[in-house]
Amino acid sequence: MNLLRSVLFVGTVVEVCTAIVDTGYFWQVTDFHYDANYSTKGDPSKMCHFMSKGSYSNSIYGNYHCDSPWQLIQSATAAMKHIHPDPDFILWTGDSVPHVDDSTLNIEKVVQNIGNVSQHLRSVFPNITIFPVLGNHDEYPEDAYPSAPDSNYYRSILHGAHFDQLLSNDTAKQFLTGGYYTTAIHRGLRVIGLNTNLYYSQDKLTSKAEDPAGQFQWLTATLTAAKTAKEKVIILSHVPPGLFEKYTLLMWFYDKFNTRYVNILKTFSDIIAAQIYGHEHTDSFRILKDSTGSPVGTLFLAPAVTPWNSSLPGVGANNPSIRLYEYNKRDGTILNYRQYYLNLAQLIRSGGNVNWTLEYDAKDVYHLPDLNPKSLHDLALSFQGDNSALFSKYLVYNSVSQTLKPVCDSQCELTHVCSITELEKLDFNLCRSSDTSKTTALPKTTPAQRHRKPVGKMYMYIIVGLGAVVFILFIVVGIICIKRRRHFVPYRFSRFSNALSSGPIN
Ligand SMILES: [Zn+2]
Repeated sequence: MNLLRSVLFVGTVVEVCTAIVDTGYFWQVTDFHYDANYSTKGDPSKMCHFMSKGSYSNSIYGNYHCDSPWQLIQSATAAMKHIHPDPDFILWTGDSVPHVDDSTLNIEKVVQNIGNVSQHLRSVFPNITIFPVLGNHDEYPEDAYPSAPDSNYYRSILHGAHFDQLLSNDTAKQFLTGGYYTTAIHRGLRVIGLNTNLYYSQDKLTSKAEDPAGQFQWLTATLTAAKTAKEKVIILSHVPPGLFEKYTLLMWFYDKFNTRYVNILKTFSDIIAAQIYGHEHTDSFRILKDSTGSPVGTLFLAPAVTPWNSSLPGVGANNPSIRLYEYNKRDGTILNYRQYYLNLAQLIRSGGNVNWTLEYDAKDVYHLPDLNPKSLHDLALSFQGDNSALFSKYLVYNSVSQTLKPVCDSQCELTHVCSITELEKLDFNLCRSSDTSKTTALPKTTPAQRHRKPVGKMYMYIIVGLGAVVFILFIVVGIICIKRRRHFVPYRFSRFSNALSSGPIN
């Protein structure tokens, strides 16, 4: 008995030690939107840019109506360095350029802006691997990535914006094709940096392309090779697939690109350990499901550093934020994450005490056993219904605690839940139309119900299918008849002909 206890004890110790050795950390920082023209005397209704008229008094760390001043960027990276100075790597998911009119920018300014942030990150973390990707604002004009590969633009970013100080030579070479690349983090774990701005529905240059910059083909080949090599993969990119949870029916990608991208994610869900995105500025997540509706992947959407109040009606502002992930170094599984933030309102009230603090610990606050797709899917489903305490928490975190008493009716709630659980427009619409009550009481629908095709559509498919079968049969029978006619008619006619005339039939 004692021997058995000892064996069990040793086993447990080995398990714990292995878990400790395998656990690693990495930062995600996103959407800096550095505005070099931010001024403490600037007009907040004009992005805090200095105007000759008016007297304003903005914090040197920012204003909810404006993009990030340099002091905010320095403050965010200093907080990263202070909280966890030695991460395994940093994922930087794009958007360094401010939300200002294109007429005030040019390509040189855009490249310089990104370069300032690149060099700053490199100087704060001189010995840490930093994986960068581009955002939709990191181009001039914005949202205008070319559909052809091998653009000079990527070369200007690589050298002008100093991505060559972040990427290895081999990885930098890949980046030149279309702003995407892959490299091994270590044996068995690979990172794939994507340029999903190519699929962004605001990019008019790629709307007619089949495979902008050849990224789909490359991604499929890269994932196939990773699977063959028995590697796990972490994907990082700026724009996520699916729909915005705060703005009904705003799909980020063109429909055709969204479907193709999601299908690739489904095909390789067994080797994609994690997906990390920015762009929304809000704090949310998405669940990837297979064809049976089972959750098979998670897309983590981290909030922005910039506190900028979105120009989309009702979306609002957020507190500046940074995110630290805890992950399994062997297979890339995300074990947990901690969301840190700067309470800008409090900072402004207190007169300038900068205090980056823990906003929440994902596993703790949502009472999760792990951050696996099923656990997070269950969490999203639990948001539905009256007075869900977890949904109330999620809603506050969604704005990085900028809005402490968010108002969200049943339709708003359903939009959040459906955007988290459905990545495709048809499924999202089905999920969202499941609320027939339009009252605070929501119908409890199961994932299977949400995946059910509409009955009318099913009948339509059956009728069209039967019609196609009848049509094909008709053609086949017709061809047979014609062949038979050619073969047999002379014989029949020969009989009559023989009877009618004595001459032979040719
Ligand atoms: Zn952004």
